[in-house]
Amino acid sequence: MDTMEERAAVRDKDIMMAPAEIRIAPPRGFSRAAYVKNMEEYESLYREAEMDPEGFWARVAGELAWFKPWEQVLDWQVPFAEWFVGGQLNACYNCLDRHISTWRKNKAALIWEGEPGDTRILTYLELYREVCKFANVLKRLGIRPGDRVAIYMPLVPEAVVAMLACARIGAPHTVIFAGFSAEAVRDRVLDAQAKLVITADGGYRRGKVIPLKERVDEALGDDSPANRVIVLQRTGAPVTMRPERDHWWHDLMKDVTASGCPAEPVDSEHPLYILYTSGTTGKPKGILHTTGGYMVGTYYTTKLVFDLKEEDIYWCTADVGWVTGHSYTVYGPMANGATVVAYEGAPDYPEPDRFWKIIEDHQVSIFYTAPTAIRSFMKWGEEWPQRRDLRSLRLLGTVGEPINPAAWEWYNQTIGRGRCPIVDTWWQTETGMIMISPLPGAIPAKPGSGTLPFPGVIAEVVDEGGRPVQPGKKGLLVIRRPWPSMLRGIWGDPKRYQQQYWSQFPGIYLTGDGAVQDEDGYFWLLGRVDDVLNVSGHRLGTAEVESALVSHPTVAEAAVIGRPDEITGQAVVAFVTLRGSIAGDDKLKSDLQDHVGRVIGSFAKPREIKFAAALPKTRSGKIMRRILRKIAVGDPSVGDITTLEDPTLIARLREEED
Ligand code: ATP
Ligand code: MG
Repeated sequence: MDTMEERAAVRDKDIMMAPAEIRIAPPRGFSRAAYVKNMEEYESLYREAEMDPEGFWARVAGELAWFKPWEQVLDWQVPFAEWFVGGQLNACYNCLDRHISTWRKNKAALIWEGEPGDTRILTYLELYREVCKFANVLKRLGIRPGDRVAIYMPLVPEAVVAMLACARIGAPHTVIFAGFSAEAVRDRVLDAQAKLVITADGGYRRGKVIPLKERVDEALGDDSPANRVIVLQRTGAPVTMRPERDHWWHDLMKDVTASGCPAEPVDSEHPLYILYTSGTTGKPKGILHTTGGYMVGTYYTTKLVFDLKEEDIYWCTADVGWVTGHSYTVYGPMANGATVVAYEGAPDYPEPDRFWKIIEDHQVSIFYTAPTAIRSFMKWGEEWPQRRDLRSLRLLGTVGEPINPAAWEWYNQTIGRGRCPIVDTWWQTETGMIMISPLPGAIPAKPGSGTLPFPGVIAEVVDEGGRPVQPGKKGLLVIRRPWPSMLRGIWGDPKRYQQQYWSQFPGIYLTGDGAVQDEDGYFWLLGRVDDVLNVSGHRLGTAEVESALVSHPTVAEAAVIGRPDEITGQAVVAFVTLRGSIAGDDKLKSDLQDHVGRVIGSFAKPREIKFAAALPKTRSGKIMRRILRKIAVGDPSVGDITTLEDPTLIARLREEED
């Protein structure tokens, strides 16, 4: 057995029982050079924002370029907020034009790698020219401010070009992850009423070509609102071009220049994009973000949470199909003039060290990924990162799900080699920006905790009646005040917007996540409120039981659900995948039950453990417990599975049930 895992297992036990005791202070050298260097500085920034939120955010907004200054910082008509009212700006201008009037014009904006190994580097000037040209293409095709444009592309430079070109002319984009099916494309194009779809002949994934154009053809019927399609040639896969409707990207680009395309000044509240949530808990919601507040929030959180410096090489592994790719690959980093790395393909292609090779080759200094990826890396083994030089790294981050302390520890030791702070960032498509996270030079980490709220964010844990709960008590995570990059609505569904986020506690944003604060005020995310278990009167977060299971050296991943039970209210059922070639048997089941009993308490012991080859996940890598809940009670319905990664898995899990 691996001694590191043993150590992690022992430490996990402490964390669950006395989380406040384990603190990992930022390395001194890191703090010395950081924007926010210690707790005093964090606290004073936090207090400044708490006492005068509008003054605080206005100061940050002053770091961006505005065509017309705002008249009012915030207009808050519950639950509708407007930020920087009366101001005019352009998101693309802030990401590009602002930099090319300085020496940054020759700085690398994008270092891109395709899955087959092709690379491209675009300077800020080059990216600017491509974006201006493509914005001219969009205008020629009749796209006007306010028209929606769907982008269904692999992660290639042109996807970023397309997003920024839309922003440049004031056309809200809706990016659809390239892994989605034709059906998901149809739903989103219809819901957003997109006039144009930008796609590619295909994209690479694990050496195979995903037929994107073919799926677009399937998705757009004759009645589709989208009557134009632009097709980028990426793979050379054969496609059928429909006359009138379909145009090759390279043909259109031949006929335009980069001139005559100034960034369109738009109102601060002009829609920047619509993006659909991951669909982990139900049907995806079309989240609307607008321009001014969103740019302020993403610009400033990128700078402080990643402590982003001019010379950093910054890599967020999220696809632009997710909000993380919007806020922390494109808008946030580029508003800061950063050098951004992007990679098209799978982390294990051609071999499981691809990410580490990219870090080595491009000297990545900031690396931001998801717990699901980290758990895969753990499963694949330490030898893969060990064979690469990762000394360029100085900061690590995670987002998307609670990170199990055992995975945190692995990330810290195996990737960070114990010298890089880790920022565990909690936020949502809806929040637009990171809300709870360590500031890496200032706030000591506790593995498994997102630590403290970002300045300007008033987060709280409350009970069902909205009353703040004591430290150590579980409750609902809410945000008390509006923040600049908050969602402005669910596209076309104001009722659901009201109902979902603002009806339980009027004027207070309901996140839908459960949390607990410890004595130090640190936030521990427990999972979705819908998923919280109630066993013999004990409220248990899925994250607690799952982290306990993952701290066992045989377990790779775990998903926990509650099954109705006459005696205890709910019985804990755990679906578990095992590491490497370990085979599950009854002995291991009872070992795992005992392990959970030791770590949390015997009431939390899973009644039943089910070994599975894989867990159902969204295409962004989040565990979909709602499907497991149905399988566990033999319910044949499945709900909305348009964002499920591998739909064939459901049948296999059901078979294992029988
Ligand atoms: P849907 O809303 O459609 O069910 P989703 O909530 O998974 O999908 P996203 O907006 O992509 O859609 O994810 C946000 C959620 O991800 C958060 O509400 C939270 O549950 C989880 N999450 C994100 N980051 C973290 C984190 N650092 N720690 C714990 N949970 C996290
Ligand atoms: Mg959600």
